[in-house]
Amino acid sequence: MAQQLGRSSLVRGKQVVVRAGVDNESSEVIFDGAIFQRNGVIEDVGDYATLKARHQADEEIGGPNFLVTPGLVNAHHHGRGITTIQMGTPDDSLEAWIVNGWARRPVDNYQMTLYTALQMLESGTTTVMYNHTSTPVATVESDVDEVLRAFNDAGLRVAFSVYHRTQNRVVYGDDKAFVDSLPADLGERVWRHLGAGTLTDDEYFGLTERVYAKYGTDPQSRIRVLISPSNVHWTSDDFLQRTKEWAQRYQTGIHLHLVESYYQRHYGTRHWGKTPLAHLDDLGFLGPEVSYAHGVWLTESNLRLLADHGGTVCHNASSNLRLKNGIAPVNQMLQHGVNVAIGTDSDGINDDDDMVQEMRLVSKLHRQPGIGAPDLKSAQVLKMATVNGAAPTFFEGQVGSLEVGKRADMALTDLSHIEEPYMHPDVNPVDAFIHRGKARYVDTVIIDGGVVLREGRSTRVNRSDLIAQVKESLSAPLPERVRETERMVRELQPHVEAFYTDWTQE
Ligand SMILES: [Zn+2]
Repeated sequence: MAQQLGRSSLVRGKQVVVRAGVDNESSEVIFDGAIFQRNGVIEDVGDYATLKARHQADEEIGGPNFLVTPGLVNAHHHGRGITTIQMGTPDDSLEAWIVNGWARRPVDNYQMTLYTALQMLESGTTTVMYNHTSTPVATVESDVDEVLRAFNDAGLRVAFSVYHRTQNRVVYGDDKAFVDSLPADLGERVWRHLGAGTLTDDEYFGLTERVYAKYGTDPQSRIRVLISPSNVHWTSDDFLQRTKEWAQRYQTGIHLHLVESYYQRHYGTRHWGKTPLAHLDDLGFLGPEVSYAHGVWLTESNLRLLADHGGTVCHNASSNLRLKNGIAPVNQMLQHGVNVAIGTDSDGINDDDDMVQEMRLVSKLHRQPGIGAPDLKSAQVLKMATVNGAAPTFFEGQVGSLEVGKRADMALTDLSHIEEPYMHPDVNPVDAFIHRGKARYVDTVIIDGGVVLREGRSTRVNRSDLIAQVKESLSAPLPERVRETERMVRELQPHVEAFYTDWTQE
């Protein structure tokens, strides 16, 4: 990405959020403020008049009607732009939904990643924790190249990992026993399907090693390479321990799903006699480098463990509702001092990777009933979507706030629409943004000092051309093998649902 090296800019806002705090009082903001950046690094932060007098910027961006925030960090995502609903997988309970999703048609990884990157940029996202799930063994290596090429072309910062899942792939129990219990013909088709998508542990480490060597070694680049056991019960204990060692060796992060559904929580009780997080603790797995997507069913004692060991919960409010997993205990997480970030999990409430809407959902969802009961302040939600996402993505010290020395990643939202036709003068712009903001009011997005979105349009990706290309590549009829998988999944689904009938909630 040509980042206009040597260029400087002065970015002005009605309010500049230098660093979001837990409430407006503890947030660091500057009214009629500005940021001066050169070569992608923030060199000065202060009031506009002072900075204007002090610096000769090549370009002035923004103005007195903009809210300038740190770029948003989408801390958990797998998306391809075209959503699961669009791909024919209706929202359902997670376990049924995953099996249904086996039947999705193959896609062009470059196009789809570019599309999701574009949608994220359009809602002010500058960094994404991207967890790659589609891993047909035959193409995974080139798929990874295509995904990262698209993020690079869009200009987005990415913490990348490939998801690894080798067990409990059909149900949470003994896959072999379960598949053997199916009608023979169905069982054969299920095994055939699973065989095409499974890397061995050694193959996975080989792949991750190569991806890391190719993309993950430059601390100044916009890519971080993390490692990802998909979930505690979806890989072996031996694999979990190897990922821990690997992450320590390369000083990088581990990203996994954890207790997303009740069934995942209950699996722990059935198989280890303890919670999944307690099992991870016994393996010596916990630590500040680990981030956990969902965490809906974390217990009080789990939260204490997490607070002691560090690490981040990546909260996916929309996805948790859509896949019938419940509401994560976010207020309790924060009360325990756990770092909580926000992700869309490619299943946002608007079905379009919109982080502005996701922040609003988070701000409403955790308002517990009653005077004095916990709720989330707008600043806290913005904090979760910015600075709290820096550590788990391994861009800590570079993104999440607009302090001197950090990378110049920011979003400018036009407040004139939000405040129209009237807004009480005392309403804080961050409150106005969280309660009334829309992705379409995000006017400008800057990453590494380069403008990647101007007047709501990507400076690097032509939206209508991209849509035309996606249409074209998906215009062919569904391949017969996708239809075959759909038939298999329809036959399999009642057996999967029956498997869980006695897993009643405690
Ligand atoms: Zn996920």
